[in-house]
Amino acid sequence: MEEGRHALGVQEGGLLVKRTRLNPISKKRRAALPARSAVIREVHERDQHCQFISRLWAPESGWEEGDLVGVPTRCSGPLDVHEIVRRSQNSKAWLDPEACVLLCRRHHEVVTLNPKLGHMLGLVKWSWE
Ligand SMILES: [Zn+2]
Repeated sequence: MEEGRHALGVQEGGLLVKRTRLNPISKKRRAALPARSAVIREVHERDQHCQFISRLWAPESGWEEGDLVGVPTRCSGPLDVHEIVRRSQNSKAWLDPEACVLLCRRHHEVVTLNPKLGHMLGLVKWSWE
């Protein structure tokens, strides 16, 4: 069968069938959105600005020079609420302000792409922690 025809919802024999899109967000998740909005507001009010650089200079962060190669030292982009614990590891973390921190878009990407560095800065937690 041709891929294209299948994707358009045309069945073999030329019959057109209506396909409903998969709901991109579950009802349970949709119901939690107002609570998530409250968490986002709280984290913005608490943190005010990107927490990456201050975490970098915190005495307890154990990074070495080599860990910072290519890491931007300036913030850029809008502020995102970053979840320290991945949603796949703890489905309730996104509704817990203590499990979230404010990061600029640039540093959010840095942490996402370098979880080891993020972990050193306390911006990522492993599933077993
Ligand atoms: Zn930043």
